[in-house]
Amino acid sequence: MLYLDTRGRISEADDYSFTKAIVEGIAPGGGLFVPQEVPHLTIDEICDLAALPYAQRAALIYERFGVDLPKERIRELMEASYGDNFDDPAICPIANVGDGMHVLELWHGPTSAFKDMALQCLPQFFSAAIGELRKKGEAKEDILILVATSGDTGKAALEGFADREHISIIVFFPAGGVSDMQRLQMVTQRGDNVGVWGVHGNFDDCQTNVKFAFNDVAFNERLASEFNIKLSSANSINWGRLLPQVCYYVSAYACLVAQGSVAKGEPIDVCVPTGNFGNILAAYYAKCMGTPIARLVCASNENNVLTDFINSGIYDISKREFKLTPSPSMDILVSSNLERQLFELCGRDGERVKGWMDDLKRDKRFVVDDVTRERIQELYVGDWVTDDDCFASIREVWREHGYLMDPHTAVAWTVAQRCKGERPMLVASTAHWAKFGVNVFRALQEIPAGAPLPPEVAQMSGIRLNELISKMTCCQRIPAGLANLDKMEVRFTQETEGTPDGIEGSVLGFLE
Ligand SMILES: *Cc1c(COP(=O)(O)O)cnc(C)c1O
Repeated sequence: MLYLDTRGRISEADDYSFTKAIVEGIAPGGGLFVPQEVPHLTIDEICDLAALPYAQRAALIYERFGVDLPKERIRELMEASYGDNFDDPAICPIANVGDGMHVLELWHGPTSAFKDMALQCLPQFFSAAIGELRKKGEAKEDILILVATSGDTGKAALEGFADREHISIIVFFPAGGVSDMQRLQMVTQRGDNVGVWGVHGNFDDCQTNVKFAFNDVAFNERLASEFNIKLSSANSINWGRLLPQVCYYVSAYACLVAQGSVAKGEPIDVCVPTGNFGNILAAYYAKCMGTPIARLVCASNENNVLTDFINSGIYDISKREFKLTPSPSMDILVSSNLERQLFELCGRDGERVKGWMDDLKRDKRFVVDDVTRERIQELYVGDWVTDDDCFASIREVWREHGYLMDPHTAVAWTVAQRCKGERPMLVASTAHWAKFGVNVFRALQEIPAGAPLPPEVAQMSGIRLNELISKMTCCQRIPAGLANLDKMEVRFTQETEGTPDGIEGSVLGFLE
Protein backbone atom coordinates (compact mmCIF):
# COMPACT_ATOMS: atom_id res chain seq x y z
CA MET A 1 0.00 0.00 0.00
CA LEU A 2 1.43 3.35 -1.02
CA TYR A 3 0.79 6.83 0.34
CA LEU A 4 -0.33 10.04 -1.35
CA ASP A 5 0.44 13.67 -0.54
CA THR A 6 -2.62 15.82 0.26
CA ARG A 7 -1.01 18.58 -1.77
CA GLY A 8 -0.58 16.18 -4.63
CA ARG A 9 3.12 16.63 -5.25
CA ILE A 10 4.44 13.09 -4.95
CA SER A 11 5.73 12.01 -8.32
CA GLU A 12 5.19 8.49 -9.59
CA ALA A 13 8.80 7.61 -8.78
CA ASP A 14 8.52 8.26 -5.05
CA ASP A 15 6.89 5.23 -3.60
CA TYR A 16 6.08 6.03 0.00
CA SER A 17 5.23 2.94 2.00
CA PHE A 18 3.89 3.00 5.56
CA THR A 19 7.38 2.78 7.09
CA LYS A 20 8.76 5.52 4.86
CA ALA A 21 5.74 7.75 5.43
CA ILE A 22 5.97 7.56 9.21
CA VAL A 23 9.70 8.26 9.28
CA GLU A 24 9.23 11.25 6.95
CA GLY A 25 6.23 12.59 8.89
CA ILE A 26 5.36 15.34 6.39
CA ALA A 27 4.99 14.65 2.67
CA PRO A 28 7.55 16.23 0.30
CA GLY A 29 5.06 18.69 -1.19
CA GLY A 30 4.33 20.11 2.28
CA GLY A 31 1.08 18.17 2.58
CA LEU A 32 0.19 15.14 4.69
CA PHE A 33 0.39 11.47 3.84
CA VAL A 34 -2.83 9.54 3.24
CA PRO A 35 -3.13 5.89 2.17
CA GLN A 36 -3.90 5.31 -1.48
CA GLU A 37 -6.80 3.04 -0.52
CA VAL A 38 -8.76 2.36 2.65
CA PRO A 39 -9.25 -1.39 3.19
CA HIS A 40 -12.75 -2.72 3.81
CA LEU A 41 -13.79 -5.15 6.54
CA THR A 42 -17.09 -7.01 6.43
CA ILE A 43 -19.43 -6.63 9.40
CA ASP A 44 -18.58 -10.19 10.46
CA GLU A 45 -14.87 -9.46 10.33
CA ILE A 46 -15.43 -6.38 12.47
CA CYS A 47 -17.57 -8.15 15.06
CA ASP A 48 -15.21 -11.13 15.23
CA LEU A 49 -12.50 -8.78 16.52
CA ALA A 50 -14.21 -8.79 19.92
CA ALA A 51 -12.93 -12.34 20.52
CA LEU A 52 -9.27 -11.23 20.20
CA PRO A 53 -7.08 -9.36 22.69
CA TYR A 54 -6.82 -5.66 21.79
CA ALA A 55 -3.24 -5.96 20.46
CA GLN A 56 -4.34 -8.57 17.94
CA ARG A 57 -7.28 -6.49 16.78
CA ALA A 58 -4.89 -3.63 16.06
CA ALA A 59 -2.44 -5.99 14.34
CA LEU A 60 -5.16 -7.27 12.04
CA ILE A 61 -6.14 -3.75 11.02
CA TYR A 62 -2.48 -2.85 10.36
CA GLU A 63 -2.13 -5.90 8.13
CA ARG A 64 -5.22 -4.89 6.19
CA PHE A 65 -3.73 -1.45 5.70
CA GLY A 66 -0.76 -3.13 4.04
CA VAL A 67 1.80 -2.05 6.62
CA ASP A 68 5.09 -3.09 5.05
CA LEU A 69 6.43 -5.26 7.87
CA PRO A 70 6.10 -9.04 8.26
CA LYS A 71 2.86 -10.21 9.87
CA GLU A 72 4.64 -11.71 12.87
CA ARG A 73 6.60 -8.50 13.45
CA ILE A 74 3.41 -6.40 13.38
CA ARG A 75 1.92 -8.67 15.98
CA GLU A 76 4.98 -8.44 18.23
CA LEU A 77 5.05 -4.66 17.97
CA MET A 78 1.36 -4.45 18.84
CA GLU A 79 1.82 -6.71 21.83
CA ALA A 80 4.61 -4.40 23.03
CA SER A 81 2.34 -1.38 22.42
CA TYR A 82 -0.79 -2.61 24.19
CA GLY A 83 0.07 -4.75 27.18
CA ASP A 84 0.59 -4.15 30.88
CA ASN A 85 1.71 -0.58 30.16
CA PHE A 86 -2.08 -0.01 30.26
CA ASP A 87 -3.92 -0.31 33.55
CA ASP A 88 -6.91 -2.17 32.09
CA PRO A 89 -6.64 -5.44 30.17
CA ALA A 90 -9.31 -4.21 27.75
CA ILE A 91 -6.86 -1.32 26.91
CA CYS A 92 -9.73 1.05 26.12
CA PRO A 93 -12.84 -0.20 27.96
CA ILE A 94 -16.31 1.19 27.38
CA ALA A 95 -18.30 2.65 30.29
CA ASN A 96 -22.05 2.63 29.78
CA VAL A 97 -23.21 5.88 31.34
CA GLY A 98 -26.92 6.38 30.98
CA ASP A 99 -29.32 5.47 28.25
CA GLY A 100 -27.62 4.71 24.94
CA MET A 101 -24.52 6.69 25.97
CA HIS A 102 -21.28 4.73 25.79
CA VAL A 103 -18.03 6.30 26.90
CA LEU A 104 -14.89 4.96 25.23
CA GLU A 105 -12.14 5.42 27.84
CA LEU A 106 -8.98 6.14 25.91
CA TRP A 107 -6.85 7.13 28.90
CA HIS A 108 -5.73 3.88 30.51
CA GLY A 109 -2.15 4.24 29.24
CA PRO A 110 0.95 5.39 31.16
CA THR A 111 0.27 9.16 30.92
CA SER A 112 -3.51 8.98 31.52
CA ALA A 113 -4.41 10.68 28.24
CA PHE A 114 -5.72 9.33 24.96
CA LYS A 115 -2.50 10.29 23.19
CA ASP A 116 -1.01 7.10 24.68
CA MET A 117 -3.22 5.04 22.39
CA ALA A 118 -1.13 6.32 19.47
CA LEU A 119 2.14 7.10 21.20
CA GLN A 120 2.69 3.75 22.86
CA CYS A 121 2.38 2.32 19.35
CA LEU A 122 4.02 4.78 16.94
CA PRO A 123 7.52 4.62 18.51
CA GLN A 124 7.49 0.81 18.25
CA PHE A 125 6.76 1.04 14.55
CA PHE A 126 9.11 3.98 14.13
CA SER A 127 12.09 2.04 15.49
CA ALA A 128 11.19 -0.94 13.37
CA ALA A 129 10.84 1.33 10.32
CA ILE A 130 14.27 2.89 10.84
CA GLY A 131 15.73 -0.61 11.24
CA GLU A 132 14.19 -1.66 7.92
CA LEU A 133 15.33 1.48 6.10
CA ARG A 134 18.88 1.04 7.40
CA LYS A 135 18.91 -2.56 6.25
CA LYS A 136 17.95 -1.41 2.77
CA GLY A 137 20.55 1.36 2.91
CA GLU A 138 17.84 4.02 2.61
CA ALA A 139 18.60 5.70 5.94
CA LYS A 140 21.82 6.62 7.67
CA GLU A 141 20.97 9.61 9.87
CA ASP A 142 19.65 9.51 13.40
CA ILE A 143 16.17 10.92 13.85
CA LEU A 144 15.21 13.91 15.97
CA ILE A 145 11.51 14.14 16.71
CA LEU A 146 10.16 17.66 17.25
CA VAL A 147 6.80 17.91 18.98
CA ALA A 148 4.62 20.96 19.49
CA THR A 149 2.16 20.17 22.23
CA SER A 150 -0.80 21.81 23.85
CA GLY A 151 -0.23 19.50 26.81
CA ASP A 152 -0.99 15.82 26.52
CA THR A 153 0.95 14.94 23.37
CA GLY A 154 4.21 16.12 24.90
CA LYS A 155 4.23 13.73 27.80
CA ALA A 156 2.83 10.85 25.81
CA ALA A 157 5.50 11.33 23.10
CA LEU A 158 8.31 11.63 25.64
CA GLU A 159 7.14 8.46 27.35
CA GLY A 160 6.85 6.59 24.05
CA PHE A 161 10.25 7.64 22.64
CA ALA A 162 12.39 7.79 25.80
CA ASP A 163 15.62 5.80 25.43
CA ARG A 164 14.84 4.40 22.01
CA GLU A 165 17.84 3.76 19.80
CA HIS A 166 18.77 6.22 17.03
CA ILE A 167 15.94 8.55 18.04
CA SER A 168 15.87 11.63 20.23
CA ILE A 169 12.94 13.88 21.00
CA ILE A 170 12.35 17.54 21.90
CA VAL A 171 8.98 18.79 23.12
CA PHE A 172 7.82 22.43 22.96
CA PHE A 173 4.84 23.46 25.05
CA PRO A 174 3.19 26.86 25.62
CA ALA A 175 4.57 28.08 28.96
CA GLY A 176 1.50 29.04 30.95
CA GLY A 177 -0.84 27.23 28.54
CA VAL A 178 -0.80 23.77 30.12
CA SER A 179 -2.05 22.48 33.47
CA ASP A 180 0.22 22.13 36.47
CA MET A 181 0.00 18.37 36.21
CA GLN A 182 0.76 18.36 32.48
CA ARG A 183 3.81 20.56 33.01
CA LEU A 184 5.09 18.41 35.87
CA GLN A 185 4.62 15.27 33.81
CA MET A 186 6.83 16.69 31.06
CA VAL A 187 9.58 18.39 33.06
CA THR A 188 10.19 15.26 35.13
CA GLN A 189 10.55 12.97 32.11
CA ARG A 190 13.35 10.43 32.37
CA GLY A 191 15.59 9.38 29.48
CA ASP A 192 18.93 10.48 27.97
CA ASN A 193 17.49 11.34 24.57
CA VAL A 194 14.81 13.82 25.62
CA GLY A 195 14.53 17.64 25.81
CA VAL A 196 11.65 19.84 26.99
CA TRP A 197 11.15 23.59 26.39
CA GLY A 198 8.49 26.03 27.51
CA VAL A 199 7.63 28.51 24.73
CA HIS A 200 6.48 32.13 25.22
CA GLY A 201 3.25 32.11 23.26
CA ASN A 202 0.29 29.82 22.67
CA PHE A 203 0.03 26.39 21.08
CA ASP A 204 -0.28 27.82 17.58
CA ASP A 205 3.00 29.70 18.08
CA CYS A 206 4.62 26.39 19.02
CA GLN A 207 3.09 24.50 16.12
CA THR A 208 3.72 27.17 13.47
CA ASN A 209 7.36 27.56 14.40
CA VAL A 210 8.04 23.85 14.66
CA LYS A 211 6.54 23.54 11.18
CA PHE A 212 8.81 26.38 10.08
CA ALA A 213 11.85 24.44 11.34
CA PHE A 214 10.72 21.37 9.37
CA ASN A 215 10.45 23.40 6.17
CA ASP A 216 13.62 25.49 6.63
CA VAL A 217 15.95 23.95 4.04
CA ALA A 218 19.14 25.61 5.28
CA PHE A 219 18.43 24.56 8.86
CA ASN A 220 17.79 20.96 7.84
CA GLU A 221 21.00 20.87 5.78
CA ARG A 222 22.92 22.12 8.78
CA LEU A 223 21.43 19.42 11.02
CA ALA A 224 22.37 16.77 8.47
CA SER A 225 25.94 17.92 7.87
CA GLU A 226 26.91 18.95 11.41
CA PHE A 227 24.98 16.42 13.46
CA ASN A 228 23.94 13.62 11.08
CA ILE A 229 20.37 14.35 12.16
CA LYS A 230 17.13 14.25 10.27
CA LEU A 231 13.95 15.82 11.66
CA SER A 232 10.68 14.00 11.97
CA SER A 233 7.35 14.60 13.65
CA ALA A 234 5.25 12.70 16.11
CA ASN A 235 2.46 15.28 16.03
CA SER A 236 -0.93 14.03 15.00
CA ILE A 237 -0.08 14.94 11.40
CA ASN A 238 2.07 11.78 11.33
CA TRP A 239 0.12 8.93 9.75
CA GLY A 240 1.67 6.59 12.32
CA ARG A 241 -0.31 8.50 14.96
CA LEU A 242 -3.59 8.20 13.11
CA LEU A 243 -3.70 4.55 12.23
CA PRO A 244 -3.65 3.33 15.88
CA GLN A 245 -6.65 5.58 16.47
CA VAL A 246 -8.59 4.05 13.60
CA CYS A 247 -8.15 0.69 15.35
CA TYR A 248 -9.98 1.66 18.53
CA TYR A 249 -13.10 2.84 16.73
CA VAL A 250 -13.40 -0.43 14.83
CA SER A 251 -12.66 -2.31 18.03
CA ALA A 252 -15.19 -0.29 20.06
CA TYR A 253 -17.96 -1.16 17.63
CA ALA A 254 -17.11 -4.85 17.98
CA CYS A 255 -17.27 -4.48 21.78
CA LEU A 256 -20.64 -2.71 21.69
CA VAL A 257 -22.06 -5.58 19.67
CA ALA A 258 -20.41 -8.19 21.91
CA GLN A 259 -21.84 -6.59 25.07
CA GLY A 260 -25.30 -6.46 23.53
CA SER A 261 -25.62 -2.67 23.39
CA VAL A 262 -25.84 -2.60 19.60
CA ALA A 263 -27.23 -5.10 17.11
CA LYS A 264 -24.75 -6.37 14.53
CA GLY A 265 -24.71 -3.83 11.70
CA GLU A 266 -26.79 -1.23 13.57
CA PRO A 267 -25.31 2.22 13.03
CA ILE A 268 -24.01 4.32 15.90
CA ASP A 269 -23.03 7.98 16.19
CA VAL A 270 -19.61 8.96 17.45
CA CYS A 271 -18.87 12.17 19.32
CA VAL A 272 -15.27 13.34 19.68
CA PRO A 273 -13.80 16.27 21.64
CA THR A 274 -11.80 17.80 18.83
CA GLY A 275 -8.66 19.89 18.63
CA ASN A 276 -6.28 19.06 15.82
CA PHE A 277 -8.93 16.89 14.10
CA GLY A 278 -6.88 13.70 14.44
CA ASN A 279 -9.14 11.69 16.69
CA ILE A 280 -12.33 12.40 14.78
CA LEU A 281 -10.57 11.82 11.44
CA ALA A 282 -9.65 8.36 12.72
CA ALA A 283 -13.36 7.72 13.28
CA TYR A 284 -13.97 8.82 9.69
CA TYR A 285 -11.44 6.27 8.40
CA ALA A 286 -13.02 3.60 10.63
CA LYS A 287 -16.33 4.43 8.96
CA CYS A 288 -14.70 4.15 5.52
CA MET A 289 -13.42 0.70 6.54
CA GLY A 290 -17.01 -0.44 7.04
CA THR A 291 -17.66 0.30 10.71
CA PRO A 292 -21.36 1.21 10.96
CA ILE A 293 -20.92 4.82 12.04
CA ALA A 294 -23.70 7.17 10.93
CA ARG A 295 -22.80 10.64 12.11
CA LEU A 296 -19.48 12.06 13.25
CA VAL A 297 -20.16 14.65 15.91
CA CYS A 298 -17.36 17.19 16.20
CA ALA A 299 -17.37 18.81 19.65
CA SER A 300 -15.45 22.02 20.32
CA ASN A 301 -14.94 24.32 23.27
CA GLU A 302 -15.09 28.13 23.01
CA ASN A 303 -12.41 27.95 20.31
CA ASN A 304 -15.18 26.92 17.94
CA VAL A 305 -13.65 27.47 14.52
CA LEU A 306 -14.53 23.89 13.49
CA THR A 307 -18.20 24.31 14.42
CA ASP A 308 -18.38 27.36 12.17
CA PHE A 309 -16.50 25.59 9.41
CA ILE A 310 -18.80 22.56 9.41
CA ASN A 311 -21.86 24.79 9.38
CA SER A 312 -20.67 27.29 6.76
CA GLY A 313 -17.80 25.81 4.72
CA ILE A 314 -15.77 28.86 5.74
CA TYR A 315 -12.66 28.36 7.85
CA ASP A 316 -11.87 31.81 9.18
CA ILE A 317 -9.37 32.67 11.89
CA SER A 318 -8.72 36.22 10.68
CA LYS A 319 -10.73 37.80 13.47
CA ARG A 320 -10.62 35.03 16.01
CA GLU A 321 -9.17 35.41 19.42
CA PHE A 322 -7.41 32.42 20.88
CA LYS A 323 -9.07 31.50 24.17
CA LEU A 324 -7.67 29.57 27.11
CA THR A 325 -10.39 27.17 28.29
CA PRO A 326 -10.61 24.36 30.86
CA SER A 327 -9.98 21.92 27.98
CA PRO A 328 -6.53 23.17 26.84
CA SER A 329 -5.83 20.26 24.49
CA MET A 330 -8.66 21.57 22.34
CA ASP A 331 -7.47 25.19 22.42
CA ILE A 332 -6.48 25.30 18.80
CA LEU A 333 -7.17 27.61 15.87
CA VAL A 334 -5.52 25.68 13.05
CA SER A 335 -6.62 22.02 13.00
CA SER A 336 -3.88 20.44 10.92
CA ASN A 337 -5.59 17.12 10.25
CA LEU A 338 -8.57 18.78 8.63
CA GLU A 339 -6.37 18.91 5.54
CA ARG A 340 -6.64 15.13 5.20
CA GLN A 341 -10.42 15.26 5.46
CA LEU A 342 -10.62 17.99 2.83
CA PHE A 343 -8.43 15.92 0.53
CA GLU A 344 -10.71 12.90 0.94
CA LEU A 345 -13.90 14.90 0.41
CA CYS A 346 -12.91 17.04 -2.57
CA GLY A 347 -12.12 14.04 -4.75
CA ARG A 348 -8.47 13.85 -3.64
CA ASP A 349 -7.65 16.97 -5.61
CA GLY A 350 -4.25 17.96 -4.21
CA GLU A 351 -4.13 21.20 -6.18
CA ARG A 352 -7.36 22.39 -4.63
CA VAL A 353 -6.25 21.44 -1.12
CA LYS A 354 -3.00 23.29 -1.68
CA GLY A 355 -5.00 26.34 -2.78
CA TRP A 356 -7.06 26.31 0.44
CA MET A 357 -3.99 25.86 2.60
CA ASP A 358 -2.23 28.72 0.78
CA ASP A 359 -5.33 30.89 1.34
CA LEU A 360 -5.27 30.03 5.03
CA LYS A 361 -1.63 30.99 5.31
CA ARG A 362 -2.03 34.25 3.36
CA ASP A 363 -5.53 35.45 4.36
CA LYS A 364 -6.11 33.43 7.53
CA ARG A 365 -9.24 32.03 5.91
CA PHE A 366 -10.40 29.72 3.14
CA VAL A 367 -13.77 28.81 1.67
CA VAL A 368 -14.51 25.35 0.28
CA ASP A 369 -16.69 24.82 -2.79
CA ASP A 370 -20.37 23.90 -2.39
CA VAL A 371 -19.94 20.21 -3.21
CA THR A 372 -17.19 19.74 -0.63
CA ARG A 373 -19.24 21.66 1.94
CA GLU A 374 -22.26 19.44 1.33
CA ARG A 375 -20.16 16.31 1.73
CA ILE A 376 -18.79 17.64 5.01
CA GLN A 377 -22.32 18.33 6.22
CA GLU A 378 -23.52 14.85 5.25
CA LEU A 379 -20.84 13.33 7.47
CA TYR A 380 -20.39 15.77 10.30
CA VAL A 381 -22.37 17.59 12.91
CA GLY A 382 -20.46 20.37 14.63
CA ASP A 383 -21.35 22.03 17.91
CA TRP A 384 -19.54 23.74 20.76
CA VAL A 385 -19.80 24.21 24.49
CA THR A 386 -19.22 27.14 26.83
CA ASP A 387 -16.92 26.67 29.82
CA ASP A 388 -19.97 26.93 32.10
CA ASP A 389 -21.87 24.19 30.25
CA CYS A 390 -18.79 21.97 30.33
CA PHE A 391 -18.59 22.36 34.11
CA ALA A 392 -22.33 21.77 34.51
CA SER A 393 -21.98 18.44 32.69
CA ILE A 394 -19.11 17.29 34.90
CA ARG A 395 -21.26 18.05 37.94
CA GLU A 396 -24.48 16.54 36.62
CA VAL A 397 -22.96 13.35 35.29
CA TRP A 398 -21.19 12.87 38.61
CA ARG A 399 -24.40 13.42 40.56
CA GLU A 400 -26.67 11.36 38.31
CA HIS A 401 -24.37 8.55 37.25
CA GLY A 402 -21.45 8.58 39.70
CA TYR A 403 -19.14 8.96 36.71
CA LEU A 404 -16.39 11.57 36.86
CA MET A 405 -15.31 13.14 33.56
CA ASP A 406 -12.40 15.40 32.68
CA PRO A 407 -13.26 18.72 30.95
CA HIS A 408 -12.40 17.46 27.43
CA THR A 409 -14.68 14.48 27.80
CA ALA A 410 -17.32 16.77 29.27
CA VAL A 411 -17.26 18.98 26.17
CA ALA A 412 -18.01 15.92 24.04
CA TRP A 413 -20.60 14.61 26.48
CA THR A 414 -22.50 17.90 26.41
CA VAL A 415 -22.58 18.06 22.63
CA ALA A 416 -23.46 14.36 22.42
CA GLN A 417 -26.46 14.84 24.71
CA ARG A 418 -27.68 17.73 22.60
CA CYS A 419 -27.31 15.84 19.32
CA LYS A 420 -28.43 12.43 20.53
CA GLY A 421 -31.16 10.89 18.43
CA GLU A 422 -32.34 7.28 18.29
CA ARG A 423 -28.95 5.81 17.61
CA PRO A 424 -26.54 4.70 20.34
CA MET A 425 -23.83 7.30 20.94
CA LEU A 426 -20.16 6.53 21.47
CA VAL A 427 -18.42 9.39 23.27
CA ALA A 428 -14.63 9.49 23.09
CA SER A 429 -13.21 10.13 26.57
CA THR A 430 -9.76 11.57 26.10
CA ALA A 431 -8.26 12.17 29.54
CA HIS A 432 -8.48 10.92 33.09
CA TRP A 433 -10.07 13.57 35.32
CA ALA A 434 -6.98 13.72 37.55
CA LYS A 435 -4.98 15.37 34.76
CA PHE A 436 -7.24 18.40 35.09
CA GLY A 437 -8.02 18.37 38.80
CA VAL A 438 -8.22 22.16 39.23
CA ASN A 439 -11.09 22.49 36.80
CA VAL A 440 -12.80 19.30 37.90
CA PHE A 441 -12.75 20.77 41.41
CA ARG A 442 -14.25 24.05 40.14
CA ALA A 443 -16.93 22.12 38.28
CA LEU A 444 -17.90 20.03 41.31
CA GLN A 445 -17.97 23.08 43.60
CA GLU A 446 -19.84 25.31 41.12
CA ILE A 447 -16.93 27.74 40.83
CA PRO A 448 -16.91 29.36 37.36
CA ALA A 449 -14.02 28.75 34.95
CA GLY A 450 -11.13 31.08 35.64
CA ALA A 451 -12.53 32.20 39.01
CA PRO A 452 -10.22 31.99 42.02
CA LEU A 453 -10.17 28.83 44.12
CA PRO A 454 -10.76 29.05 47.88
CA PRO A 455 -7.44 30.10 49.47
CA GLU A 456 -6.86 26.77 51.24
CA VAL A 457 -7.32 24.97 47.93
CA ALA A 458 -5.35 27.47 45.82
CA GLN A 459 -2.19 26.72 47.77
CA MET A 460 -2.44 22.95 47.30
CA SER A 461 -0.26 21.15 44.78
CA GLY A 462 -2.05 19.42 41.93
CA ILE A 463 -1.37 16.13 43.66
CA ARG A 464 -2.97 17.16 46.98
CA LEU A 465 -5.92 18.67 45.14
CA ASN A 466 -6.52 15.37 43.36
CA GLU A 467 -6.51 13.60 46.73
CA LEU A 468 -9.12 16.07 47.93
CA ILE A 469 -11.29 15.47 44.85
CA SER A 470 -10.94 11.75 45.35
CA LYS A 471 -12.25 12.17 48.90
CA MET A 472 -15.16 14.30 47.68
CA THR A 473 -16.13 11.65 45.14
CA CYS A 474 -16.21 8.43 47.15
CA CYS A 475 -12.54 7.58 46.57
CA GLN A 476 -12.33 7.87 42.79
CA ARG A 477 -9.05 6.25 41.81
CA ILE A 478 -5.99 8.37 40.86
CA PRO A 479 -3.58 6.71 38.38
CA ALA A 480 -0.14 5.97 39.90
CA GLY A 481 1.73 8.08 37.32
CA LEU A 482 -0.15 11.18 38.47
CA ALA A 483 -0.29 10.43 42.19
CA ASN A 484 3.53 10.30 42.56
CA LEU A 485 4.56 13.26 40.41
CA ASP A 486 5.70 15.45 43.31
CA LYS A 487 8.27 12.84 44.30
CA MET A 488 10.08 13.14 40.99
CA GLU A 489 13.01 15.40 40.14
CA VAL A 490 12.36 18.38 37.82
CA ARG A 491 14.88 18.02 34.98
CA PHE A 492 13.84 20.75 32.54
CA THR A 493 13.32 24.46 33.23
CA GLN A 494 14.37 26.12 29.93
CA GLU A 495 12.10 28.57 28.10
CA THR A 496 12.36 30.05 24.62
CA GLU A 497 10.68 32.63 22.36
CA GLY A 498 7.81 31.44 20.15
CA THR A 499 9.70 32.43 16.98
CA PRO A 500 11.59 30.50 14.29
CA ASP A 501 14.90 31.54 15.89
CA GLY A 502 13.67 30.51 19.33
CA ILE A 503 12.74 27.02 18.21
CA GLU A 504 15.73 26.42 15.94
CA GLY A 505 18.09 27.84 18.58
CA SER A 506 16.69 25.40 21.14
CA VAL A 507 17.21 22.47 18.78
CA LEU A 508 20.84 23.47 18.17
CA GLY A 509 21.36 23.97 21.91
CA PHE A 510 20.02 20.47 22.58
CA LEU A 511 22.27 18.88 19.95
CA GLU A 512 25.39 20.72 21.10
C1 LIG B 1 -5.25 15.88 22.00
C2 LIG B 1 -6.47 15.89 22.82
C3 LIG B 1 -7.72 16.18 22.26
C4 LIG B 1 -7.89 16.57 20.81
O1 LIG B 1 -7.63 15.53 19.92
P1 LIG B 1 -7.35 15.83 18.38
O2 LIG B 1 -6.95 14.53 17.82
O3 LIG B 1 -6.22 16.83 18.36
O4 LIG B 1 -8.58 16.39 17.81
C5 LIG B 1 -8.81 16.10 23.08
N1 LIG B 1 -8.70 15.80 24.39
C6 LIG B 1 -7.52 15.54 24.97
C7 LIG B 1 -7.45 15.25 26.42
C8 LIG B 1 -6.36 15.56 24.20
O5 LIG B 1 -5.18 15.30 24.77
